[in-house]
Amino acid sequence: MKNKEIKILLASPRGFCAGVERAIEIVKKSIDKYGAPIYVRHEIVHNKHVVDSLKKIGAIFVEELHEIKDKSRPVIFSAHGVPKKVPAEAENFKMEYIDATCPLVSKVHRETENLNKNGAQVLLIGHKNHPEVIGTMGQIPRGKIDLIENIDDVNNYENKSQKKLAYVTQTTLSVDDTKEIISALKKKFPEIKEPKKEDICYATTNRQAAVKKIAKECDMFFIIGSKNSSNSVRLVEVARNSGCANSRLIHSGSTIPLGEIKKCETIGISSGASAPEILVNNFINNLKKQFTVAIEEVKIVKENITFKIPGKLN
Ligand code: SF4
Repeated sequence: MKNKEIKILLASPRGFCAGVERAIEIVKKSIDKYGAPIYVRHEIVHNKHVVDSLKKIGAIFVEELHEIKDKSRPVIFSAHGVPKKVPAEAENFKMEYIDATCPLVSKVHRETENLNKNGAQVLLIGHKNHPEVIGTMGQIPRGKIDLIENIDDVNNYENKSQKKLAYVTQTTLSVDDTKEIISALKKKFPEIKEPKKEDICYATTNRQAAVKKIAKECDMFFIIGSKNSSNSVRLVEVARNSGCANSRLIHSGSTIPLGEIKKCETIGISSGASAPEILVNNFINNLKKQFTVAIEEVKIVKENITFKIPGKLN
Protein backbone atom coordinates (compact mmCIF):
# COMPACT_ATOMS: atom_id res chain seq x y z
CA MET A 1 0.00 0.00 0.00
CA LYS A 2 2.87 2.39 0.90
CA ASN A 3 3.96 2.47 -2.75
CA LYS A 4 0.79 4.17 -3.82
CA GLU A 5 1.63 7.81 -4.60
CA ILE A 6 -0.78 10.59 -3.68
CA LYS A 7 -0.41 14.24 -4.55
CA ILE A 8 -1.64 16.64 -1.88
CA LEU A 9 -2.66 20.17 -2.81
CA LEU A 10 -2.54 22.18 0.37
CA ALA A 11 -4.68 25.32 0.25
CA SER A 12 -3.21 28.51 1.65
CA PRO A 13 -4.29 30.56 3.54
CA ARG A 14 -5.91 27.96 5.81
CA GLY A 15 -6.43 27.52 9.54
CA PHE A 16 -6.21 30.11 12.28
CA CYS A 17 -7.31 33.67 11.52
CA ALA A 18 -6.37 36.79 13.48
CA GLY A 19 -9.63 36.74 15.48
CA VAL A 20 -9.08 33.15 16.62
CA GLU A 21 -5.41 33.77 17.51
CA ARG A 22 -6.48 36.78 19.56
CA ALA A 23 -9.29 34.94 21.39
CA ILE A 24 -6.97 32.06 22.39
CA GLU A 25 -4.31 34.54 23.50
CA ILE A 26 -6.91 36.34 25.63
CA VAL A 27 -7.71 33.11 27.49
CA LYS A 28 -4.03 32.30 28.04
CA LYS A 29 -3.15 35.84 29.17
CA SER A 30 -6.18 35.94 31.47
CA ILE A 31 -5.02 32.74 33.16
CA ASP A 32 -1.53 34.26 33.51
CA LYS A 33 -2.95 37.40 35.03
CA TYR A 34 -5.79 36.12 37.23
CA GLY A 35 -4.70 32.51 37.81
CA ALA A 36 -6.92 29.47 37.21
CA PRO A 37 -9.75 28.85 36.92
CA ILE A 38 -11.05 31.29 34.35
CA TYR A 39 -14.55 30.85 33.00
CA VAL A 40 -15.28 31.06 29.27
CA ARG A 41 -18.82 31.55 28.03
CA HIS A 42 -19.30 29.20 25.07
CA GLU A 43 -16.41 27.48 23.22
CA ILE A 44 -13.85 30.28 22.81
CA VAL A 45 -13.56 29.18 19.16
CA HIS A 46 -15.33 26.21 17.60
CA ASN A 47 -12.61 23.60 17.88
CA LYS A 48 -12.43 20.67 20.31
CA HIS A 49 -8.63 20.50 20.24
CA VAL A 50 -8.34 24.17 21.21
CA VAL A 51 -11.02 23.91 23.91
CA ASP A 52 -9.45 20.77 25.42
CA SER A 53 -5.99 22.33 25.52
CA LEU A 54 -7.36 25.43 27.30
CA LYS A 55 -9.25 23.25 29.78
CA LYS A 56 -5.92 21.67 30.71
CA ILE A 57 -4.47 25.04 31.75
CA GLY A 58 -7.49 26.09 33.79
CA ALA A 59 -10.31 27.31 31.55
CA ILE A 60 -13.84 26.18 32.48
CA PHE A 61 -16.38 26.39 29.66
CA VAL A 62 -20.04 27.22 30.34
CA GLU A 63 -22.93 28.12 28.05
CA GLU A 64 -24.54 30.73 30.32
CA LEU A 65 -23.27 32.90 33.15
CA HIS A 66 -25.73 31.52 35.73
CA GLU A 67 -23.90 28.16 35.48
CA ILE A 68 -20.75 29.74 36.94
CA LYS A 69 -20.35 28.55 40.52
CA ASP A 70 -17.68 31.00 41.68
CA LYS A 71 -18.74 34.40 40.40
CA SER A 72 -15.68 36.05 41.93
CA ARG A 73 -13.70 34.60 39.00
CA PRO A 74 -13.49 36.47 35.65
CA VAL A 75 -15.38 35.29 32.58
CA ILE A 76 -14.36 35.59 28.93
CA PHE A 77 -16.87 35.99 26.09
CA SER A 78 -16.09 33.91 23.00
CA ALA A 79 -14.82 35.17 19.62
CA HIS A 80 -18.34 34.85 18.14
CA GLY A 81 -19.66 37.79 20.15
CA VAL A 82 -22.54 38.04 22.61
CA PRO A 83 -25.91 39.79 22.75
CA LYS A 84 -25.92 43.00 24.79
CA LYS A 85 -27.77 41.31 27.62
CA VAL A 86 -24.72 39.14 28.42
CA PRO A 87 -22.33 41.89 29.61
CA ALA A 88 -25.34 43.42 31.42
CA GLU A 89 -25.91 40.09 33.17
CA ALA A 90 -22.20 39.90 34.13
CA GLU A 91 -22.49 43.38 35.65
CA ASN A 92 -25.58 42.28 37.58
CA PHE A 93 -23.60 39.36 38.95
CA LYS A 94 -20.75 41.82 39.67
CA MET A 95 -18.46 39.61 37.58
CA GLU A 96 -15.34 40.85 35.85
CA TYR A 97 -15.54 40.04 32.14
CA ILE A 98 -13.11 40.11 29.24
CA ASP A 99 -14.56 40.33 25.76
CA ALA A 100 -12.81 38.13 23.16
CA THR A 101 -15.31 38.99 20.41
CA CYS A 102 -13.41 39.24 17.12
CA PRO A 103 -13.04 42.92 16.15
CA LEU A 104 -14.58 42.08 12.76
CA VAL A 105 -17.70 40.74 14.51
CA SER A 106 -17.75 43.83 16.75
CA LYS A 107 -17.70 45.93 13.56
CA VAL A 108 -20.94 44.23 12.45
CA HIS A 109 -22.40 44.86 15.93
CA ARG A 110 -21.67 48.60 15.67
CA GLU A 111 -23.09 48.75 12.11
CA THR A 112 -26.26 47.08 13.35
CA GLU A 113 -26.61 49.51 16.25
CA ASN A 114 -26.01 52.53 14.01
CA LEU A 115 -28.52 51.38 11.43
CA ASN A 116 -31.10 50.93 14.17
CA LYS A 117 -30.31 54.37 15.63
CA ASN A 118 -30.78 55.87 12.19
CA GLY A 119 -34.23 54.35 11.94
CA ALA A 120 -33.61 51.39 9.59
CA GLN A 121 -35.15 47.95 9.84
CA VAL A 122 -32.11 45.65 9.78
CA LEU A 123 -31.91 42.35 7.92
CA LEU A 124 -29.17 39.98 9.07
CA ILE A 125 -28.07 37.42 6.49
CA GLY A 126 -26.87 34.42 8.48
CA HIS A 127 -27.56 31.00 9.95
CA LYS A 128 -30.20 30.65 12.65
CA ASN A 129 -28.90 29.69 16.10
CA HIS A 130 -25.23 30.27 15.28
CA PRO A 131 -23.76 32.13 18.30
CA GLU A 132 -22.56 34.99 16.08
CA VAL A 133 -26.09 35.46 14.74
CA ILE A 134 -27.54 35.37 18.28
CA GLY A 135 -24.93 37.97 19.29
CA THR A 136 -25.60 40.31 16.37
CA MET A 137 -29.39 40.06 16.70
CA GLY A 138 -29.00 40.82 20.39
CA GLN A 139 -27.38 44.22 19.74
CA ILE A 140 -30.74 45.89 19.14
CA PRO A 141 -34.26 45.30 20.46
CA ARG A 142 -36.28 42.32 19.27
CA GLY A 143 -38.42 43.16 16.24
CA LYS A 144 -35.91 45.69 14.86
CA ILE A 145 -33.83 43.00 13.14
CA ASP A 146 -34.95 40.05 11.02
CA LEU A 147 -32.95 36.99 9.99
CA ILE A 148 -32.60 36.05 6.31
CA GLU A 149 -31.11 32.60 5.80
CA ASN A 150 -31.73 31.98 2.10
CA ILE A 151 -33.44 33.10 -1.11
CA ASP A 152 -36.79 31.69 0.06
CA ASP A 153 -36.61 33.99 3.08
CA VAL A 154 -36.02 36.93 0.72
CA ASN A 155 -39.01 35.94 -1.39
CA ASN A 156 -41.24 35.57 1.67
CA TYR A 157 -40.03 38.71 3.46
CA GLU A 158 -42.52 41.54 3.96
CA ASN A 159 -41.31 44.81 5.38
CA LYS A 160 -44.05 45.26 7.95
CA SER A 161 -42.12 48.04 9.70
CA GLN A 162 -42.49 50.48 6.76
CA LYS A 163 -38.99 51.72 7.70
CA LYS A 164 -36.07 51.80 5.27
CA LEU A 165 -34.31 48.46 5.02
CA ALA A 166 -30.60 47.82 5.52
CA TYR A 167 -28.66 44.60 5.68
CA VAL A 168 -25.61 43.20 7.46
CA THR A 169 -24.21 39.67 7.29
CA GLN A 170 -22.60 37.01 9.44
CA THR A 171 -18.81 37.07 8.93
CA THR A 172 -18.34 33.40 8.03
CA LEU A 173 -20.85 32.82 5.24
CA SER A 174 -20.30 31.37 1.78
CA VAL A 175 -19.17 34.30 -0.39
CA ASP A 176 -21.03 32.94 -3.44
CA ASP A 177 -24.31 32.04 -1.68
CA THR A 178 -24.34 35.42 0.04
CA LYS A 179 -23.88 37.23 -3.28
CA GLU A 180 -27.01 35.50 -4.56
CA ILE A 181 -29.01 36.39 -1.46
CA ILE A 182 -27.86 40.03 -1.66
CA SER A 183 -28.72 40.30 -5.32
CA ALA A 184 -32.22 38.86 -4.61
CA LEU A 185 -32.64 41.39 -1.79
CA LYS A 186 -31.56 44.28 -4.02
CA LYS A 187 -33.91 43.14 -6.76
CA LYS A 188 -36.86 42.98 -4.39
CA PHE A 189 -35.90 46.07 -2.34
CA PRO A 190 -33.83 48.35 -4.66
CA GLU A 191 -33.50 50.98 -1.91
CA ILE A 192 -31.93 48.61 0.64
CA LYS A 193 -28.84 50.09 2.30
CA GLU A 194 -25.70 47.96 2.19
CA PRO A 195 -22.65 47.95 4.47
CA LYS A 196 -19.81 50.30 3.40
CA LYS A 197 -17.40 47.39 3.50
CA GLU A 198 -18.66 43.86 3.24
CA ASP A 199 -19.13 41.93 6.48
CA ILE A 200 -17.83 38.52 5.38
CA CYS A 201 -14.35 38.69 6.83
CA TYR A 202 -10.99 38.55 5.05
CA ALA A 203 -10.20 35.11 6.54
CA THR A 204 -13.44 33.52 5.34
CA THR A 205 -13.01 35.08 1.88
CA ASN A 206 -9.36 34.02 1.50
CA ARG A 207 -9.91 30.44 2.74
CA GLN A 208 -12.82 29.95 0.36
CA ALA A 209 -10.90 31.43 -2.60
CA ALA A 210 -7.91 29.16 -1.91
CA VAL A 211 -10.13 26.05 -1.84
CA LYS A 212 -11.96 27.19 -4.97
CA LYS A 213 -8.68 27.55 -6.86
CA ILE A 214 -7.63 23.92 -6.43
CA ALA A 215 -10.91 22.00 -5.97
CA LYS A 216 -11.24 21.11 -9.68
CA GLU A 217 -7.88 19.36 -9.67
CA CYS A 218 -8.74 17.13 -6.69
CA ASP A 219 -10.39 13.69 -6.57
CA MET A 220 -11.22 14.22 -2.88
CA PHE A 221 -11.08 17.28 -0.64
CA PHE A 222 -10.65 17.31 3.13
CA ILE A 223 -11.41 20.25 5.37
CA ILE A 224 -10.04 19.92 8.88
CA GLY A 225 -12.41 21.56 11.35
CA SER A 226 -15.23 21.02 13.81
CA LYS A 227 -18.83 20.20 12.91
CA ASN A 228 -20.05 23.37 14.63
CA SER A 229 -17.48 25.59 12.87
CA SER A 230 -19.46 27.63 10.36
CA ASN A 231 -16.49 28.56 8.21
CA SER A 232 -15.21 24.94 8.09
CA VAL A 233 -18.60 23.63 6.96
CA ARG A 234 -18.75 26.40 4.34
CA LEU A 235 -15.31 25.32 3.02
CA VAL A 236 -16.65 21.79 2.42
CA GLU A 237 -19.55 23.28 0.44
CA VAL A 238 -17.19 25.54 -1.52
CA ALA A 239 -14.97 22.57 -2.46
CA ARG A 240 -18.06 20.61 -3.58
CA ASN A 241 -19.48 23.51 -5.57
CA SER A 242 -16.14 24.29 -7.19
CA GLY A 243 -15.51 20.93 -8.80
CA CYS A 244 -14.70 18.35 -6.13
CA ALA A 245 -17.94 16.48 -5.39
CA ASN A 246 -16.27 14.16 -2.88
CA SER A 247 -15.42 16.72 -0.21
CA ARG A 248 -15.49 15.94 3.52
CA LEU A 249 -15.15 17.53 6.89
CA ILE A 250 -12.53 15.87 9.10
CA HIS A 251 -13.49 16.54 12.73
CA SER A 252 -12.44 15.04 16.06
CA GLY A 253 -14.69 11.98 15.59
CA SER A 254 -13.83 11.28 11.94
CA THR A 255 -12.03 8.24 10.62
CA ILE A 256 -9.83 8.82 7.59
CA PRO A 257 -11.36 7.06 4.55
CA LEU A 258 -8.09 5.41 3.48
CA GLY A 259 -9.84 2.99 1.11
CA GLU A 260 -11.30 5.89 -0.88
CA ILE A 261 -8.10 7.92 -0.74
CA LYS A 262 -6.23 4.93 -2.18
CA LYS A 263 -8.22 5.37 -5.40
CA CYS A 264 -7.23 9.07 -5.71
CA GLU A 265 -4.41 10.67 -7.67
CA THR A 266 -4.75 14.10 -6.06
CA ILE A 267 -6.41 15.22 -2.84
CA GLY A 268 -6.98 18.74 -1.52
CA ILE A 269 -6.59 19.78 2.10
CA SER A 270 -7.56 22.94 3.93
CA SER A 271 -8.71 23.85 7.43
CA GLY A 272 -11.23 26.18 9.02
CA ALA A 273 -10.29 29.42 10.76
CA SER A 274 -10.58 27.78 14.20
CA ALA A 275 -8.54 24.64 13.39
CA PRO A 276 -4.90 24.57 14.55
CA GLU A 277 -2.22 23.57 12.03
CA ILE A 278 -1.24 20.59 14.19
CA LEU A 279 -4.48 18.88 13.11
CA VAL A 280 -3.53 19.34 9.44
CA ASN A 281 -0.06 17.93 10.19
CA ASN A 282 -1.57 14.95 12.05
CA PHE A 283 -3.84 14.23 9.10
CA ILE A 284 -0.96 14.38 6.62
CA ASN A 285 1.24 12.24 8.89
CA ASN A 286 -1.48 9.60 8.98
CA LEU A 287 -1.55 9.60 5.18
CA LYS A 288 2.24 9.32 5.07
CA LYS A 289 2.02 6.05 7.02
CA GLN A 290 -0.04 4.55 4.21
CA PHE A 291 1.07 6.33 1.05
CA THR A 292 3.99 8.07 -0.56
CA VAL A 293 2.87 11.67 -0.60
CA ALA A 294 4.01 14.69 -2.61
CA ILE A 295 2.83 17.97 -1.11
CA GLU A 296 2.31 21.16 -3.06
CA GLU A 297 1.14 24.24 -1.19
CA VAL A 298 -0.96 26.60 -3.31
CA LYS A 299 -0.91 30.06 -1.79
CA ILE A 300 -3.26 32.66 -3.22
CA VAL A 301 -2.49 35.51 -0.83
CA LYS A 302 -0.28 36.29 2.17
CA GLU A 303 -2.18 37.34 5.28
CA ASN A 304 -0.59 39.74 7.73
CA ILE A 305 -3.55 40.85 9.85
CA THR A 306 -3.22 40.85 13.64
CA PHE A 307 -5.54 42.20 16.32
CA LYS A 308 -4.48 43.71 19.64
CA ILE A 309 -5.56 42.05 22.84
CA PRO A 310 -7.40 44.16 25.45
CA GLY A 311 -5.00 46.58 27.22
CA LYS A 312 -5.81 45.27 30.68
CA LEU A 313 -4.16 41.93 29.83
CA ASN A 314 -0.82 43.47 28.85
S1 SF4 B 1 -13.32 34.01 10.95
FE1 SF4 B 1 -13.21 36.23 10.57
S2 SF4 B 1 -14.74 37.13 11.92
FE2 SF4 B 1 -14.38 35.02 12.64
S3 SF4 B 1 -12.80 35.22 14.20
FE3 SF4 B 1 -11.74 34.87 12.26
S4 SF4 B 1 -11.26 36.94 11.45
FE4 SF4 B 1 -12.82 37.15 13.04
